[in-house]
Amino acid sequence: MNVEELNSWLARYQSFGLVRLPRELEASFIRDEREPQRRIGLVGLMLGTAFFILLMVFDWIVDPGLFWMSVGLRLGIAIPINCLMIWIMLHPGRSRAVYQAASTLSACNACIMFSILFAQSDKLAALTYLSANLIVMGFTINLLGQSTLASAIVCAVSVSCMLGAAALSPISNGTVVMTYALVGAMVAFTSILANHCLQNERRRNYVTTLREEIRLEQIARQQAVMEKLATIDPLTQIANRRGFDAQLDDALAHAIHGTLSVAMIDIDCFKKFNDTYGHLEGDDVLCSVALCLSRTCESLALIGRVGGEEFAIAAVDMRPEDFHLLAERVCRAVEALAIPHRNHESTSVVTVSIGLASGSAVDRMNGKILFRAADQALYRAKTSGRNRIVASEDTEPDRPTSPMSSSES
Ligand code: GH3
Ligand code: MG
Ligand code: MG
Repeated sequence: MNVEELNSWLARYQSFGLVRLPRELEASFIRDEREPQRRIGLVGLMLGTAFFILLMVFDWIVDPGLFWMSVGLRLGIAIPINCLMIWIMLHPGRSRAVYQAASTLSACNACIMFSILFAQSDKLAALTYLSANLIVMGFTINLLGQSTLASAIVCAVSVSCMLGAAALSPISNGTVVMTYALVGAMVAFTSILANHCLQNERRRNYVTTLREEIRLEQIARQQAVMEKLATIDPLTQIANRRGFDAQLDDALAHAIHGTLSVAMIDIDCFKKFNDTYGHLEGDDVLCSVALCLSRTCESLALIGRVGGEEFAIAAVDMRPEDFHLLAERVCRAVEALAIPHRNHESTSVVTVSIGLASGSAVDRMNGKILFRAADQALYRAKTSGRNRIVASEDTEPDRPTSPMSSSES
């Protein structure tokens, strides 16, 4: 489902009526609800069982004559059943209906037991047992997040037991039956109503959370696309200046020796190429040169289009002489593309000129100085005839002497 569908679903189900999830979501909702339901049920059952044991003390206060019967009922029937239900609840992975049935059975079990005790007692204080029934009913339906069906079963059993016990009790009379029938019905009604609202809220919440998850996924995907677009040159599909700088920063951060070699590459007489063959042909040349650069440098160096017809390559931790050889290969590979250029000043195919600089790049500033030095070397490559490589005379910004002397090929 998409965000729009979920939005229209949410708009439809803002009323009090039963919230029905879209068919494809119903199964996943039930599945996702299972584990929280199990955990709440488990805590509720444990608490209930603990109270069940503690309240044995009150049996003595309410009616000492019923004490041993109460102990027998509690320890012999109710608590073993509760322990069995706790054991079921302790095992994740069963269906939601199993956990609901366990909570329902425990609640009914308590109601039946309280009702038996009330029916057997001739003390007025035994009315506490009927009140306990109401508490069990409210607790189970409101706090354990039972389904409406399970809630209705708990209510039916609890109210019937109360009324049956009230009818059988020696201390009961019409007023007691009336009072507990009325109070029981009220508690049942309000509990089921609260449960209905809770269920609806859970369903709406499920869809809202799902919608937010889908939105976040969409944003993350869009962000990834935007980040890619921001760092890739759309024409040549290699890194643009921003992407190149980012990759270089990253490479420098992981550099072992901190040696940086950079080359500025510029297509020769490109303006004339455009004038002769047109801009679209010029674009194709840019793409061919970019492809040639990436194939020649592969994983050896970073490449990027840093200007109109200017490219840069950079390598960290590579010996300057090896970088020089790499630049040499680039220069020859572009020439070997044999793209005709009849208005070239010195040859008849597209060529590039390259300026090189190498040195330490312990911080970003030194990197900038190296690029400036490479740019100056490129200028010399242009003025000395093009289609050649010139290395900077002083390529080591931190040292007085250069590790790589100026050379021309
Ligand atoms: P030099 O050998 O000295 O580098 O001469 P050049 O003509 O290559 O250099 P110049 O700076 O005079 O011209 C660069 C040309 O590059 C001008 C511009 O039309 C072209 N150019 C820049 N970006 C693009 C582009 O994206 N596509 C095309 N087709 N041409 C471009
Ligand atoms: Mg240029
Ligand atoms: Mg040029």
